[in-house]
Amino acid sequence: MDTKTLMQWSESYLMDTYARYPLCLVRGEGVRVWDSDGKEYLDFTGGLVVLALGHCHPRVVGTIQEQAATLIQTSNFFHNPPAIQLAKLLAEHSFADRIFLSNSGAEANEAALKLVRKYAKETFSSDRYDIIATRNSFHGRTLATVTATGQEKYQHGFEPLMPGFKHVPYNDLQAMERSIDSRTAAVLVEPIQGEGGVVVPDDGYLPGLRKLCDESGALLILDEIQTGMGRTGALWAYQHSGIEPDIMTVAKALANGIPIGATLATERVAAAFTRGSHGTTFGGNPFAAAVAIATLTTLLEDRLSERAARMGRLLLGKLEALKPSHPVVREVRGKGLLIGIELTRPVAPVVTACREQGLLVLTAGENVVRLAPPLIVEDAHVERAVAILTSALGRLAP
Ligand SMILES: *Cc1c(COP(=O)(O)O)cnc(C)c1O
Repeated sequence: MDTKTLMQWSESYLMDTYARYPLCLVRGEGVRVWDSDGKEYLDFTGGLVVLALGHCHPRVVGTIQEQAATLIQTSNFFHNPPAIQLAKLLAEHSFADRIFLSNSGAEANEAALKLVRKYAKETFSSDRYDIIATRNSFHGRTLATVTATGQEKYQHGFEPLMPGFKHVPYNDLQAMERSIDSRTAAVLVEPIQGEGGVVVPDDGYLPGLRKLCDESGALLILDEIQTGMGRTGALWAYQHSGIEPDIMTVAKALANGIPIGATLATERVAAAFTRGSHGTTFGGNPFAAAVAIATLTTLLEDRLSERAARMGRLLLGKLEALKPSHPVVREVRGKGLLIGIELTRPVAPVVTACREQGLLVLTAGENVVRLAPPLIVEDAHVERAVAILTSALGRLAP
């Protein structure tokens, strides 16, 4: 199939919900991908912060082949070994005691929101269901999660939104304190805002939220869908902060590209979900669960969190060094291999120039280039990416 025909069919048959770049990716290996014309790219999008182990990691591919030939789907009317083993593995490597498995980030957050409502209903006698989220957050595209998302552009046209959601500025403990009251069931935040611009809060922010929640009886939900799985230099971003949430949601990198979501909770909170409370047809299927086990095990055995921290420092340092000679760069920030380069102007031309020179990058809002390469990224990839970015920034008119 030639590229032009593919593009035409894409325009004709797919719902027009994405502003896609004019290229069609057909193959990947490690940090590299190839388009339908055979052009090679360095993939610093990581499939939208998904491919922690890179494209087609041999262990992931091997597990996919083996599990596909063994058992793909059972339904939750039966036990299956990979789902059980995955839940145990997640519990052993986090604060959590119990896990609900689903198929995407939005679904993991949806389960968290339902769990909070049920927990609050059973714990407090008064009506207590408010969720306080933050402005500029991103929590997904279902009706409840788009309501939780603090960005109007994602909500526009879908009103009426869900009742029971409030938004306060991110990284602002005073605003949160003023907003929490006896109706607050939970606070929902990302440890670092991803889509919202790679916004890293002050060190005291998560501990401060923990304290406010403890004082008021509200639960703390951390959305680690983007920050989890080693991305920020720790397996979970909350581990940098010294506190633990009551609920955490994970998805994106969990099965290195096979759709999956997970809602993790403490025993006390998870107890609100009883038989029949919640469900999903594909959730916990042996196929996705087996791939998640392979991904998480590889991540732990190969110490990829530490690698993310080291490579992130290298990349951040090189980008910082561009600032003096490129006044268009307002700020470089991030943690581990989740990095934002904020410009004084829209980044679209930089993204295009990078792509033309063989580097795929993400954006996070209008003015931020977001980098999220696979955690297996090597020095040479970082060198090349920075060289391309430097050239792309240099092409901008001052
Ligand atoms: C991507 C993302 C989601 C939504 O995940 P989907 O799998 O697209 O539904 C939710 N929260 C955060 C922080 C994300 O980055």
